[in-house]
Amino acid sequence: MSEKCIKYQQDLVDIFYKEKELYDELRLHLNNCEKCSKYWEELEHIKLGLKDIDIIPVDYMQISKAFEQADNIKERRKNIKSLIVFIIFSSIIMSIITLFAIKGYLSEILYFQMTTYMIIPLLLPIIIRKRYIREGYND
Ligand SMILES: [Zn+2]
Repeated sequence: MSEKCIKYQQDLVDIFYKEKELYDELRLHLNNCEKCSKYWEELEHIKLGLKDIDIIPVDYMQISKAFEQADNIKERRKNIKSLIVFIIFSSIIMSIITLFAIKGYLSEILYFQMTTYMIIPLLLPIIIRKRYIREGYND
């Protein structure tokens, strides 16, 4: 490849990136030099390829749907986690109660249960309020 061809091909790249205009001398060279005209053709092919990439529509709906699904999976994992914590917590309490029952503290357990049934409904508004605040319903 001649020195001149190298220079022309560098110019072709600049023209490809719209940093230069195609000038007559180069146009004439393209008509006469097979290597350079082939090089220019390849650049044009790249351009066409890039156009195809632009044409691919970005499906924003699908993207937002994917994000939504990811959020749902996260939420489900959180729910499973709290369920496991609840199961562990309640089985610990159940074993403690069973242990007390075996040891003969049945009346105490009954008192404890009765107090719990009295107190929990009183706490309910506080629990609901706390949840509202945490989930951001409270504007
Ligand atoms: Zn050439």
